[in-house]
Amino acid sequence: MYNAKAYSAASATSPLASTPIPRRDPGDNDVQIEILFCGICHSDLHQVRNEWSEAMPTVYPCVPGHEIVGRVTSVGSAVTAFKAGDLAAVGCMVDSDRTCPECQAGQEQFCPNFTLTYNFPDSHGTAPVTYGGYSDGIVVDEKFVLRVPPNLDLAGVAPLLCAGITTFSPMRHWNVSKGKKVGVVGLGGLGHMGVKFAHALGAHVVVFTTSPNKKEDALRLGADEVVISKNADEMKKHAGSFNFILDAVSADHDINAYLGLLARDGNLTLVGAPEKPLAISAFNLIMGRRSLSGSPIGGIAETQEMLDFCGEHNITADVEVIPIQKVNEAYERLLKSDVKYRFSIDMASLKA
Ligand code: NAP
Ligand code: ZN
Repeated sequence: MYNAKAYSAASATSPLASTPIPRRDPGDNDVQIEILFCGICHSDLHQVRNEWSEAMPTVYPCVPGHEIVGRVTSVGSAVTAFKAGDLAAVGCMVDSDRTCPECQAGQEQFCPNFTLTYNFPDSHGTAPVTYGGYSDGIVVDEKFVLRVPPNLDLAGVAPLLCAGITTFSPMRHWNVSKGKKVGVVGLGGLGHMGVKFAHALGAHVVVFTTSPNKKEDALRLGADEVVISKNADEMKKHAGSFNFILDAVSADHDINAYLGLLARDGNLTLVGAPEKPLAISAFNLIMGRRSLSGSPIGGIAETQEMLDFCGEHNITADVEVIPIQKVNEAYERLLKSDVKYRFSIDMASLKA
C-alpha cells in the first residue's frame, strides 16, 4: 500500500478537506492512473451529505468522485490493453463478479456484486470502503478502465464517465432516434449531456428548465425547443406528444406534469435521484399506457461505445474547471444550479 493525496468528508456536515488515503499497490491485472481531471456529479453531493441514507448510507471518511480521466503511470504484468503513458478513464464502477448473467451480458451495472468507485466495501481490503476520484491517483482492474478518444479535451471528457453514460444508456435502450420527440428535464450536468446525445441521435429535442437564463444555452447545446417548466401554458402545448422524456432533476419536483406530456406508450425514465420519494398519479400512467422507469449508469462495453461515439461526434461536457480547493464552494453553487454545466476538478491543484 502507498498513500495518495485526496479530499474527503469526515461527516455529513463537514466540508471536504485534504487527507492522505491508502491505495493498493498495483496487482497483475491493475492499471495505476495519475488522475488529471475529475467531474463533480450531484451524486457526490448527495453521498457526501448522506442524503441517500436509506439506499446507500455513507461511510466516512468519504472520498467522492466517479468521473475520472488521467494518464497510466504503471500496469501489472497481466495487463494487455494499457501501457504507461496511455490516457485512461474510470467511471462509477471498479469491479463486479464477472460471472453472473448480467456480467456475462456486459451489463455490469446490474451485477448484484459490483463495486462502486467510492463508498462501497473494498474487496481488496485497502480501506473499509472504496475511495473515489477526488485524488491524485487510483488503481483499478483493467477490465474497468476505459480508453479515451485522443481528439477530445480531457477536462470535458471526465464528466462523460457518469453524466455521459447515464444519459446515453437509456436513450439507446428506448431507441431515441430520428423522428422521435424527446424531452430532457433539468439542464444540469446530466441534462446537458442528454441534450447533446438526443440531438446527435437525430431526435427532436425539447428542454424543460426552471431557469429562464439557460434558454439560449439549451438551444446552443442542441435543443429544438425550450420550455420554462413553471409556465403552465407552455407546458400544456406539449400534452400527449412525447415518445420519451429523460428526467435528470436532483430535487423534489412534480413528475406528473411530465407524465401527462407523454404520447401513447411513451416512456419517462428517471435518472435523477432526489432525496425524497416522488408522488405519482396512477391515471397519468393508465391513460395512454404510459410507462415510468429508471436507469443506472451503463455497462463497461456501453461506456466505451459512448466514449467512442463522443470521439466521432466531437462531444464533451461543457465544463467550468476548478482547483480542488474550491470544491466546497462548487457544491453550494451546484445546489443553486449555478454551473455551466459541470465542474471539472483540475487535479494538478492537489499538488499545491
Ligand atoms: P445537477 O447538475 O445539479 O443538475 C440538476 C438540475 O435539476 C439542475 O441544473 C436544475 O435544472 C434542476 N433542478 C434542480 N433543483 C430543482 C428543483 N427543485 N426543481 C426542479 N428542477 C430542479 O445534477 P446532476 O449531476 O446532473 O445530477 C442530477 C441527478 O441525477 C442527481 O440526483 C444525481 O444524483 C442523479 N444521478 C443519477 C445517476 C444514475 O445512474 N441514475 C447517475 C448520476 C447522477 P434547471 O436549472 O434546468 O431547472
Ligand atoms: Zn455521477
